[in-house]
Amino acid sequence: MQKLAEIITTQDVNSIFETIHAMAALVESDGTLVAWNSAFEACQKTTSPGRNLNELFSPHDKSMLHAKLTNGVKGHWAVEFPLNGTGSSKYCDCTFIPAQNGRVLFIAERMESDIALQEMIERLNRRAKLFQVESEFTKKIARNKQIEMDAVMVQASEVAHVDSLTFLFNRRTIIKELQDEVLRAERYHSMLSVSVVDVDNFKAVNDTHGHPIGDEVLRQVAHQLRESIRHPDVVGRYGGEEFLILLPNSDSRAAAEQAARLCRQVRETVVFAKEHEVNITLSIGVAQFRTGVDTWDTLLSRADNAMYEAKNDGRDRWAVAK
Ligand code: GH3
Ligand code: MG
Ligand code: MG
Repeated sequence: MQKLAEIITTQDVNSIFETIHAMAALVESDGTLVAWNSAFEACQKTTSPGRNLNELFSPHDKSMLHAKLTNGVKGHWAVEFPLNGTGSSKYCDCTFIPAQNGRVLFIAERMESDIALQEMIERLNRRAKLFQVESEFTKKIARNKQIEMDAVMVQASEVAHVDSLTFLFNRRTIIKELQDEVLRAERYHSMLSVSVVDVDNFKAVNDTHGHPIGDEVLRQVAHQLRESIRHPDVVGRYGGEEFLILLPNSDSRAAAEQAARLCRQVRETVVFAKEHEVNITLSIGVAQFRTGVDTWDTLLSRADNAMYEAKNDGRDRWAVAK
């Protein structure tokens, strides 16, 4: 098989020069320009003899050019080089075809449209990436804001429902719970009992140990009450040293048993507050809801009356409303 170099004659080169629109030049293997077509001349203005193809390529492309010229390295080569001596450069698809006498036919086609398209795609990709980053960032901020909002809402709700000294339900909330439980007991004909719990002689605690110690005692009693009741019972701070326990599905006997247990536990517990040791007792009034007779407030006042009965009977005890 004949080599391409032997087939492509100087005549062929000349006819190629005349027929193609791409830049074409016949060069020695060292890059010295031998002949070129009008497209090459128009673009490069390299008509002066002795010039070298090398001069058109940037320093980092020169070694590849050398390889293409001397070793006949095959394949297209997209490379940027200057046009028209204007200072601007364009990507060209360069082909190197071996010709006779060790010369090489160099053909360079401008890739303007492809490059423009490529640049546009790159620009769009960059913008898409930027947009992605921005939207991730925005989403993150929104998520953090939501978390902050949730935390504020939780805090606000706690402030609205919880007593700040004892962390039990506050008066408003425990009354609301009582109203709901009364409605439930009426609707489902279920049992409901309540207990009003009052700390005995608490004024004396304040007078003897000081108000801050009184506060600490209240906190510890509240803790003891919360730990001693069982689900679904709930407890709230009804007043200064008074608490209200709701016992859904419980009759007065069960409520009285709980009251007895609470009286005993509190009586047997010495409250340590700073260096003070305080003994306290409770008086508890229990009342069971009477369907069709009681409302939430009559139920509450019956329990309250029972609590005063326990006080009158000597304190540190419980009483059940008739
Ligand atoms: P009784 O056995 O009859 O219930 O006597 P008591 O002294 O407990 O009742 P009284 O109603 O005379 O006094 C209640 C005291 O509770 C008076 C009040 O200063 C005190 N108190 C109410 N709320 C608080 C509080 O948040 N902290 C403190 N340290 N004391 C409180
Ligand atoms: Mg009281
Ligand atoms: Mg009291």
